[in-house]
Amino acid sequence: MRTIETLGDLRSKRVLVRSDFNVPLKDGKITDDGRIRAALPTLTRLVEAGAKVVVMAHLGRPKGKVDPAFSLAPVAKRLGELIDAPVTLAKDVVGESAKATVEALKDGEIALLENVRYDARETSKVDEERGELAAAYAELGDAFVSDGFGVVHRKQASVYDIAKLLPSASGLLVLKEIESLRKATDNPERPYGVVLGGSKVSDKLGVIANLLKKADRLFIGGGMAFTFLAAQGHSVGKSLLEEEQIDTVKGYIAEAAERGVELILPIDVVVAPEFAADAPASVVTVDQIPADQMGLDIGPESRKLFAEKISSAKTVAWNGPMGVFEFPAFAEGTKAVAKALSEGDMFSVIGGGDSAAAVRLLGFDESTFSHISTGGGASLELLEGKVLPGIAVLED
Ligand code: ADP
Ligand code: MG
Repeated sequence: MRTIETLGDLRSKRVLVRSDFNVPLKDGKITDDGRIRAALPTLTRLVEAGAKVVVMAHLGRPKGKVDPAFSLAPVAKRLGELIDAPVTLAKDVVGESAKATVEALKDGEIALLENVRYDARETSKVDEERGELAAAYAELGDAFVSDGFGVVHRKQASVYDIAKLLPSASGLLVLKEIESLRKATDNPERPYGVVLGGSKVSDKLGVIANLLKKADRLFIGGGMAFTFLAAQGHSVGKSLLEEEQIDTVKGYIAEAAERGVELILPIDVVVAPEFAADAPASVVTVDQIPADQMGLDIGPESRKLFAEKISSAKTVAWNGPMGVFEFPAFAEGTKAVAKALSEGDMFSVIGGGDSAAAVRLLGFDESTFSHISTGGGASLELLEGKVLPGIAVLED
């Protein structure tokens, strides 16, 4: 992949950078700034090179319309604090304000365009529409640095199309991510385990077919587990369930058996009558989930089982919390998996925005894991062995 060095002397050059600033917000406040911190090495490098740095990023899903709830203002403020320099936020994506903001930049200064997903063309499936927006971005820069690892699996204007219009290179975060994730995918030390959880069930079910060809052990927790339990014939009450995927999942279970992949599912779960922090929790075995309750975490026996099978693996990739870790009563499963990874003697990779936030929120020392990825979907697709458009476009 082309590195920043290949762009030559950047002094006084306008460098467009795609970063991933899609941070979790609560009441307008950033609850985990990990992704902003992860972007600092590249931004600092460019500032030190005397470039005029123009950052493009998205936040949430404003669906192609201006929506103040998704403004990058909190990000601009936090970024300014972290790099200890003012960051100007343009009022639009490629309009008059963006142009004037870039025009006013001095060498070594940083500006941020407004949420690129305010413009519907950013994520359009129509090549011409994305191309048109990319051309407008290109007017604002002399070179492009792709550093938003969390979006490199997306064929979007600020990720993919722009790279074809300007001299382009991968940033330091993207380089580091690719290097670490390749360690887990190309020739992993075995046993190789993949732990899946979280609530984006349909997205993640899709990756299992490929993971079954690569992993020795597949752990399923979080919201995903209930579609598996249902496929095994258990009633799952009010738990998250993808009914139309049950047949597919039955296929995965059969294929895992054929391939000799060990499939590790919860044997007990923590249930509650509703999705709430103070909902009364109880533990049941998976064949006794009451019809009026929902599973919000893996149970104590499952925690033991998962931890044991994780600890004896040599490479483990983890994506998706084991339960609703945001509520302390349902955080134990996620904690147990994080602990096994943190204490284990293995190459450990954590992907997924919420999973990465969870280990920090639960107080784990980030340096006890081999790699915490800033990308969810992107890291999963790499683990699957897919070619990512935002990476391929940077390769010669
Ligand atoms: P990641 O961002 O790590 O890829 P997801 O976005 O797929 O993970 O899912 C994270 C969310 O999944 C968390 O907010 C967590 O509360 C939720 N979750 C985990 N287990 C369950 C469950 N059993 N039922 C409902 N939600 C769950
Ligand atoms: Mg998430």
